[in-house]
Amino acid sequence: MAKEWKCPRCSSATTRAARKCSNSDCRAELGLCSHCKDLIAVEAAEGGLRRARITCSKCGEAVVRCRTTQVGGACNGLARASGRYAHQFCDDCSGKTFDFATRVGVLALGTAAGALLRRRR
Ligand SMILES: [Zn+2]
Ligand SMILES: [Zn+2]
Ligand SMILES: [Zn+2]
Repeated sequence: MAKEWKCPRCSSATTRAARKCSNSDCRAELGLCSHCKDLIAVEAAEGGLRRARITCSKCGEAVVRCRTTQVGGACNGLARASGRYAHQFCDDCSGKTFDFATRVGVLALGTAAGALLRRRR
């Protein structure tokens, strides 16, 4: 599947995993929506409101930043948040929850990720 990923704001070519547009005039924060599997520009998601709900500009569903980023992992995913509870992880990450410990654990074993996983049991 050779999809061409583009920045939704300036249409510069980018990649599926890009967290920021590489166009220096744009620098849009990018996120991959779990609902429509498309890149959207994430506005005002930073700055304190770490779990702020974002409305996808493509499909209109509510999403939140994937928790993987908050414990030091590399993910630009947006987890589904349109139900009563926001999901913790985007579709990419929740599909491999067991992988998660190894992805993030190297950096954060026994700290953030460890506490997070222990608490969720
Ligand atoms: Zn851009
Ligand atoms: Zn969407
Ligand atoms: Zn994720």
